[in-house]
Amino acid sequence: MREIALFEKGLPVTPIEPLNGEYGSNRCFVKRDDLLPFSFGGNKVRKAAEFYKGIKKNDVDMVMTYGSNSSNHCRITANMAAAMGIACHIISPEENREILYNTQMVEQFGGTIETCPVSMVAKTIENRKKAYIEEGRKPYFITGGGHGNPGTRAYVKAYQEILDYEKMNDIRFDYIFHASGTGTTQAGLVCGKLLYGGTGRIIGISIAREAGRGRQVVKDSIREYLGERFDRLYTEEELTFTDAYRLEGYGKYDNAIMDTIQKVMNQEGIPLDSTYVGKAFHGMCQYLEEHEIKDKNILFIHTGGTPLYFDYLSSLQTCGKGCL
Ligand SMILES: *Cc1c(COP(=O)(O)O)cnc(C)c1O
Repeated sequence: MREIALFEKGLPVTPIEPLNGEYGSNRCFVKRDDLLPFSFGGNKVRKAAEFYKGIKKNDVDMVMTYGSNSSNHCRITANMAAAMGIACHIISPEENREILYNTQMVEQFGGTIETCPVSMVAKTIENRKKAYIEEGRKPYFITGGGHGNPGTRAYVKAYQEILDYEKMNDIRFDYIFHASGTGTTQAGLVCGKLLYGGTGRIIGISIAREAGRGRQVVKDSIREYLGERFDRLYTEEELTFTDAYRLEGYGKYDNAIMDTIQKVMNQEGIPLDSTYVGKAFHGMCQYLEEHEIKDKNILFIHTGGTPLYFDYLSSLQTCGKGCL
């Protein structure tokens, strides 16, 4: 198994930069996790760097995971396995057949993609794992989206970077917005705040799940990470998960989101995709307006998804597939 020097050394602190555009009377900043220097960056790189430690510690020869083969998580997991010189097996729901740049990259990294109906996923994972072990292979399983304590830890660390920035630059963020999917990123940020303090109100903008389930999953992840500290540290008001901007769910976008994506690219030179960060950034703009938030310091965490920006580039002017 080869080492990944970047993960051995530890990821660099990602920049926080002010935006040019007007967002009411608020001062907006972006934390550029999309610039993490591995496989086009993003929050799945932070998570992968944590799972990497587990892979290294356990004598394994294969990484297994679950997810849409067009996902950022599968791209980065397959890239990590390729860099380490070990096999990668991805179980993907067959309902999702879109061939995006991420899908093509997974293939280029030599990842095996096995599709099955979404209802059969759990069974397929179990069977495949068993079959590999019987063959004498040693698979390491990463939950879809990099969900679980290592993924949460990745964003506890990101939160500490935000606290360091505040201290060094004598600024306090009043709000921290980000795209919330499996909720691991949000769980990490909230755990960071519960453990290390700070003033920023963390707002997860759901890109898929409805508030009830979405919020519960984030809360469960927080409980899992904090363990016995949960009852002492956790309060409901530290967890804001809004589904007001999810439209009809995962991958759905509208013309207003596309307009925001184009505006941010033109004014800031920052690419946002329509599934995750573009949707969340647009949601943030609406949230600021609807809650009449003025004269505040706002931080948006850019969680990546850059290859998806190119997939949907041609849809920017003519609302394309997935568009409502
Ligand atoms: C996966 C992903 C998210 C969501 O992160 P979770 O930890 O699953 O909530 C947000 N943005 C991008 C670009 C992603 O790939």
